[in-house]
Parts: sequence; C-alpha cells; structure tokens
Amino acid sequence: MMLEKALARLNHQPPQLEPGHVWLAGAGPGDPGCLTLDVLAALAQADAVVHDALVSPAVVAVAEGAELFYAGKRGGRPSMKQEDINALLLRLAREKRRVLRLKGGDPYVFGRGGEEALALAREGIPVRVLPGLTSAFGAMAVNGIPATMRGINKAIILATGHTADDDDLDWAALARTGQPIVVYMGMKTLPVIAAALLEGGRAADTPVAIIEAATTPQERVLIATLGNIVVQAAAQEISSPALIVVGDIVSVRAELMGGS
Ligand code: SAH
Repeated sequence: MMLEKALARLNHQPPQLEPGHVWLAGAGPGDPGCLTLDVLAALAQADAVVHDALVSPAVVAVAEGAELFYAGKRGGRPSMKQEDINALLLRLAREKRRVLRLKGGDPYVFGRGGEEALALAREGIPVRVLPGLTSAFGAMAVNGIPATMRGINKAIILATGHTADDDDLDWAALARTGQPIVVYMGMKTLPVIAAALLEGGRAADTPVAIIEAATTPQERVLIATLGNIVVQAAAQEISSPALIVVGDIVSVRAELMGGS
C-alpha cells in the first residue's frame, strides 16, 4: 500500500498550528523515521522553527518556508542561554508566528522543555506539546537492548550524568536497586558515575553499552563492562551525544544481533 493511501486510511487530522502559539515538539533520536506524524505536520506548517543541535538537518529542512533559529551548541561554544531561548520563543509568539520549538528526543526528557513551557505559560502564550521518542528508548530498541525483559528487570532508570561530579543524585542508591540505568549527558562524568555505581555494589562485570549518535549514520556502539568501560570509552574516543546503558539487559544484544 502506498504511504499516501495509508495516511488517508488513518483518517487522522493533524493539529493546526495557530499564529501566536508555540509547539514544543520532540524530533526523536535522529533517524527521520522516528518522527511522529504530528511533528511532521508541524514542520510543514511552522513559520518559525527554533531547534537544537540534536535535531537532524534533514528534519529541520522539512520546514521549507520557515525562518530557522539555532539554539544549540556550535563549534564548542556554549549553547544559547536558557533565558535567551525563552525570550526568543516569547518574541516570536508575540509576533504572531506559528512557532515550532523542536528538540531532540522527547521535549520533556532532560531537554529543559518543562522550563520553556512554564516560561511561556506564565506569559499567557498557549503551548502545545508534541511528544517524541526519547533517545534512550530509540537507541536501545535499534541496538538489540530491550528496555525491559522479563526475568531481568522490573524497572528502568533514566538519569542525567550532567552534574554527576557535583551531585545531589545518589548514584550508590540507584546502583542498589539492581535495575538497569540509562545515563544521558554522561560522557564527561563517566569515570565518576562508574566509580559510584561500583561503590554502590554493582558488579564490575555488569555489561555496559555506550551508544553514540544513535539512529544516525554516525552511530557507534561500544560494549564493555562496568569495570573497564572508562578505559574502553577513552580508547574508542566515544563522545557526545551518547547514552550509557548499565545492566544485564545489555547482554541480550549478543544473542539478538549474532554476537556483536
Ligand atoms: N530530550 C532528549 C535528551 C536531551 S539531553 C531526549 O529525549 O532524548 C541530551 C542528551 O541526550 C545527550 O547528551 C545524549 O546523552 C542524549 N542523546 C540525544 N540524542 C542522542 C542520540 N541520537 N544518540 C545518543 N545519545 C543521544
């Protein structure tokens, strides 16, 4: 069946982007195939798109007629300050543009989407949220790592490693749950996190996967153990964006993907 026919059969009316409204949307982990229909419809309607570095250029390019604003990191320079992003969104909305704020993954998972939505809501700007596939679940799914697996885990922890070297998050307590932990933004603090998890009682032979640039043509996957992941990641020069998956769910991959 042709895609157009499938869409017609779905009989789904994509929401309309109103002038002066902001749509806070998630573009998924990278692969355009992970976009939702509503985010695609929003890209087609927007006349101003404010996007992060994690959104694929091919996805941004769909918004053909829109003015594009880049709010991410560029060439190692610090990202735009959050208050400047909020101010930009506010200005565009007040100019009665159809504003699409597009983030990688899901807008409400470690992307400061909640802060942006609150800042706009406080100024009386209508905000509508379009969910996206968060990178952790996309990255695991395409790489043979089930997020939950009967007999292995009953919960899964999503954590940010961003502040792990100066932390109010009790990594040892997370370790003691015995449940798999997926760390976003953890490459800089990987040595601290690995040490804290070992300290908390996770075994040194616990399997660990690091998935770099998941679902993009640059994707790389490193499989190691909690005991040697720091050395291995340095040797392979794994860098951001990357997700660190710690736990026995990682060992399912070998069987699913033929031992790789
Ligand atoms: N809102 C996003 C997360 C933003 S925080 C989401 O739901 O996925 C940014 C972090 O997300 C990165 O440092 C990295 O840990 C992770 N990330 C996002 N996209 C990724 C990708 N394609 N591959 C690996 N990690 C990714």
